[in-house]
Amino acid sequence: MKISIKDITSLPDQSKKFKGDCEITEFSYLGSNFSINHIEPFDVVLSMIGTGKLHITLNTTATVVGPCDRCLTDVSFQVPASVDETVQVSEGQVVTDDDIGPYPFVDGEDIDVDELILNEILVNFPAKILCQDDCKGICPVCGKNRNIEACGCDDTVLDPRMAQFLDVFNSFKEVK
Ligand SMILES: [Zn+2]
Ligand SMILES: [Zn+2]
Repeated sequence: MKISIKDITSLPDQSKKFKGDCEITEFSYLGSNFSINHIEPFDVVLSMIGTGKLHITLNTTATVVGPCDRCLTDVSFQVPASVDETVQVSEGQVVTDDDIGPYPFVDGEDIDVDELILNEILVNFPAKILCQDDCKGICPVCGKNRNIEACGCDDTVLDPRMAQFLDVFNSFKEVK
């Protein structure tokens, strides 16, 4: 959703609350595709600090579904998204910060709530996504999911240190 800041910026020291909404349902991150299956209901609060600053806050949790790093089975996990941004405003528009350039969540006179939430999801993204702590992954020999059946191939990769090594190896492959 997008929220126009035109009205609030003419009301010094006032706040306005909006019922939040996130229209993003899919995104990709480090080469994998994820979907957002649920967003906890939330409010977006826009508050003017004096006449020149706008404070934007929201608090929610997204339920994200995407592949396990080792076996590629879809996993559902929660990612918190808390936004606490203060921007300079002038004449109903957000003033671009000279140091960091235009804000990705500002679109003319609108605040792009979807962009704010997606950014927070990526900032808070888990370093490792596993279907279970001891996920045995996919057999590098025959390609079977070893959580479902023991395939009988040489199982030295069951050593957890080896599994970690494979994670690193796989993430290097993704970078290429
Ligand atoms: Zn797994
Ligand atoms: Zn196998």
